[in-house]
Amino acid sequence: MDQGSAGALQLKWELSGHGWANCHLADDSQTASVIASYCTDALADLVAGAGELYGQQRSARFFFDAEPQELRWVLRPTDDAVDVTIHQFPDVSVSPDLPDSHGTVMWQATYPRSAFAHAVLEAAHTVLKEHGEAGYLAKWAMHPYPVALVQDLRRLHIRDDTCDLPHDLSCP
Ligand SMILES: [Zn+2]
Repeated sequence: MDQGSAGALQLKWELSGHGWANCHLADDSQTASVIASYCTDALADLVAGAGELYGQQRSARFFFDAEPQELRWVLRPTDDAVDVTIHQFPDVSVSPDLPDSHGTVMWQATYPRSAFAHAVLEAAHTVLKEHGEAGYLAKWAMHPYPVALVQDLRRLHIRDDTCDLPHDLSCP
C-alpha cells in the first residue's frame, strides 16, 4: 500500500437512515464508506478525535459500531502528519479487547493534520447545513449534533494550522 503523502482527503457524513450514518472517505488513491450506528455518537467521536490531535497526546482512538462490525479508527502522529488507519473487526461484542493487528485494515493513509481536521470540519458543517440541528437529531435520534465539539475543533484548527482553505463561519 502506498504510504506516501496521500492527495487531498474528502470526508462526507451521510445520515443514511434512522440511527445510521455513512462516513464516505476519498483521496486521490482510494475511496471507502464506513458505517456507523447510533450505539455510539459517531460524528461526535470523529470530531473529538480530530481535536485530540491538538492535545498533548496528539493521537486518538475511537470506534464506530456497525452492528455487528467494529470499525476502529486510530489516529497517530507521524513526523509532521497524521496516520489515519481504520481497522475492521467482525464482531463488536468481542473485538474491543482485541489488538489492532487482529483487525482488517480497510483504510490507511497519512495526511497533514491540517488537511485531516479540515476534512472533518467540512463533513460536520455540510451535514449540519443539509439537516439543521433539529433534522440531525430527528435522524440520528440518540445524540444531538455535536455543536461544541465542532466549535472546539474549528478553533484549534484555525489557531494552530496554516490552512488557506475557506472556513464556514456561519455554522454554529
Ligand atoms: Zn481549514
